[in-house]
Amino acid sequence: MIDRMASPHQFRLDLLAYRPLRALVSSLAFPIALQAMALAGVLLFIWNAWGVGQGHSGAEIMTLRKTNLTTLSVWGLWWPGMIALALALGRAWCTVCPMELANRAGDALARRVGWPRARFGRWLRAGWLVVVAYLVLQVLVAGVSIHRVPHFTAVMLIALLAGALAAGLAFREPRAFCKGLCPAGGLLSVYGRYTPAQLDVRDPEVCAGCKTRDCVAQENRNRFDKRSCPSLLRPYARAQSDGCVLCFQCAKVCPYGNIAFGLARPTAGVRRHRLLEPSEAAFVLFAAGFVAHEVIGEVKWLDEFFHAVPTALQRLAPAVGFGWFEALWFLVLFPLVLWSVAAVVARASSGRQSVRTLLLAAATGAAPAVAVAHLAKSAAKVASWGGFLPLAVADPAGVETLRQLSAKTLAQPARWVGLPLLGWAMLILLVLVAWRSVRWIREASGESARAAYSGFAVTTAFFAAALLVWPWA
Ligand code: SF4
Ligand code: SF4
Repeated sequence: MIDRMASPHQFRLDLLAYRPLRALVSSLAFPIALQAMALAGVLLFIWNAWGVGQGHSGAEIMTLRKTNLTTLSVWGLWWPGMIALALALGRAWCTVCPMELANRAGDALARRVGWPRARFGRWLRAGWLVVVAYLVLQVLVAGVSIHRVPHFTAVMLIALLAGALAAGLAFREPRAFCKGLCPAGGLLSVYGRYTPAQLDVRDPEVCAGCKTRDCVAQENRNRFDKRSCPSLLRPYARAQSDGCVLCFQCAKVCPYGNIAFGLARPTAGVRRHRLLEPSEAAFVLFAAGFVAHEVIGEVKWLDEFFHAVPTALQRLAPAVGFGWFEALWFLVLFPLVLWSVAAVVARASSGRQSVRTLLLAAATGAAPAVAVAHLAKSAAKVASWGGFLPLAVADPAGVETLRQLSAKTLAQPARWVGLPLLGWAMLILLVLVAWRSVRWIREASGESARAAYSGFAVTTAFFAAALLVWPWA
């Protein structure tokens, strides 16, 4: 079944060399049919959650978030699944994401009507609004519990779809939403770096001799299918953090079939490690706080200890909800403490580099440990929420299930996997990733290596200590 004509120079395993997979990716329906199915799923989730959860007590909402099919699927399965998928297969979620479809629809409509559209400024192009969108999402999670109240989750999904459509209508930049506004963009870009499963050219020499360069040609840009890269990338010069969303249009349009996807060799262009972009580094700095809050939240006594600061702050202003102080703590104050420690260690070990360089390098060194800790929390969430899935399928609104669980006429579903086992498994993964990180840091950071090791050491030690508590919870 493997096309032996192919010469997988940059790949150990090229999945597109398997004819059935290549045929699938080459079909007119790929990926648009998958995106349309995902869009239908999102619309069903909105319909299912609309109006549900209002008027319930806080204690009821804590159960309803797991019995309602929308909140269970979005926050208990999809979000953790996306983190795992990014670490295993890069930005594979983007292949089927319905937001790209909505953005494309807005873009096509605006082009047809021909109204004037804005260009991306430097700030948007650099991805800073992606970081802001992530922070806004986390503040809303802590402050108004959009992840717990089904109706609020429905509103969030509508806002995302509307935002993607509006971005296509308002900006000339192709894939404006994916590049400049998607709240998951930073996470997907940073976590998607570490997997060897990547898209790149199979043989760089074929591209060097290619006269037509169909993958970047202007005349292929606005076709329905077999387009030149819609993200305006150069597929023959891929690099980490370039924003590739794995749409496979370059694989469709390349006349030599020179695009590969699979296990890329460490020497492949896309796997050459380099420092994070500034906006990605900012994402890591904030995400470290959020992930710490999540990982620690699995152990009650540790959670109370960790949240002593927001608890004390709330005593000063009891009229303000605890969630707002919680967000202030884990998104601002705690990261400030963590990164001040990393910056001091980095400064002491690296001499007189600028704070910006130190933080960029420290965040690059820290990112793999943050990613593993995020995966650990995701696994814990799926393990504790997954048992609710059959109940949520049988009663998608989840209100009747909530009533039966409250009346104790229905037993609480058991966890799929215990926290101690997950704790050990994630600690082993953290150690393995830490071992690999040493090479990644050496490759990525050059003169800033010591600062990168500081970020690596501080976060790895912190998350290892937090995970070490899980087996004894
Ligand atoms: S990927 Fe294909 S179309 Fe693009 S430069 Fe290489 S050979 Fe040419
Ligand atoms: S390089 Fe461009 S065309 Fe190719 S998969 Fe990535 S985003 Fe799509």
